Amino acid sequence: MEEIKNEVDDLKNKYGIMPHLKLIQIGNDAASSIYANAKIRRGKKLGINVTLDKYQNINQDELIDLIKKYSIDKNIHGIMMESPLPENLNYYDIIKYIPYYKDSDGLSPVNLGNLYIRNEEIAPATARAVVDILEHYGIKNGNVCIVNRSPVVGRPLSMMLLNRDFTVSICHSKTSNLKEIVESSDILVAAIGKKHYFGKDFVNNNSIVIDVGINYEGNKIYGDVNFDEVSGIVKAITPVPGGVGVVTATDIFQNFINGIKIQMHNFV
Ligand code: NAP
Repeated sequence: MEEIKNEVDDLKNKYGIMPHLKLIQIGNDAASSIYANAKIRRGKKLGINVTLDKYQNINQDELIDLIKKYSIDKNIHGIMMESPLPENLNYYDIIKYIPYYKDSDGLSPVNLGNLYIRNEEIAPATARAVVDILEHYGIKNGNVCIVNRSPVVGRPLSMMLLNRDFTVSICHSKTSNLKEIVESSDILVAAIGKKHYFGKDFVNNNSIVIDVGINYEGNKIYGDVNFDEVSGIVKAITPVPGGVGVVTATDIFQNFINGIKIQMHNFV
C-alpha cells in the first residue's frame, strides 16, 4: 500500500492528474457490492478517486457503449467490470472492449496474452498476489501444484510462475490423481472454492500452502485449506481471511498504476 501510495503521489506531481478508477456493477449481488465498496475505501487511502456506476437493467450493447465512452475519456484511467454479471451478459465478451491499459483487472485478452511473452505490466490481480507472496518470502523456484484452471487464477498464474523458475502442474476437477500430485509438490496453490477441502492428507513438513479460496458461510469466510489441521505440519501457509485476498485487493491498484504509466508514456 505504501509503495503504491508513493507511486500515486509521483504520478500526480509529474502529470498533474487525479487518478480515477471507474467500477461498473450490474445488479445487486451482495458480495459484489462489498468488493466494490472495499475498493472505494482502499482507493481513498491511496489518493485514488474510485467511483461506482450501478445499473439494474442494461443490455450487452448498451454496456459496451458505456465501456467505449470511458475508454476514450482522458479523466478515467482504469475500468473494472464487477462480477458476477446477470445471465444475459457475457463477461469476457464485454471486457474485451476495455483497452489493455485501462484494464485494471488484467483479464482482457491482450493482458492475458501478454503473460505468454513475459510482459506482466498488467496481470490478473490474484495471480499477481500469489507471485508477490512467494517473492516476498524469497521463494524462487520449486514444483508448484495449482488446483484451478480458470482464467482468473490458474491459467495466468501458471504463466507467471513459468516466467520465473517454477515447475508447474495444473489440476482441476477431472484430475484423477490429485492427492498424489499435490503431495509430491513443494507448493500447493488451492483455489477450488470448497471450504476446507485440503487437509493433512495432502501435505507434509516441506509443503508451502497458498490458500486462494474464499468460501462464505454466513458472515464468515473460510479457505479451501483446513488451516487448523495443517498449519502445524507445513512449512508455511497463508491464512483466510488475511492472506491472498488482502494482497489481491492491493494488487488491483498496482495494475491501475501501471496502466496510467502506459497511458502517460504513450498518449501525453
Ligand atoms: P472457478 O472458475 O469455479 O474455478 C474453480 C476451479 O477449481 C476449476 O478449475 C475447477 O475445475 C476446480 N475444482 C473444483 N472442484 C475441484 C475438486 N474437487 N478437485 C479439483 N479441482 C476442483 O473459480 P475461480 O473464479 O477461479 O475462483 C476459485 C476460488 O478462488 C473461489 O473460492 C474464489 O472465491 C477464490 N478467489 C479468490 C480470490 C482472492 O483474491 N483470494 C480471487 C479470485 C477468486 P474444473 O475446471 O474442472 O471445473
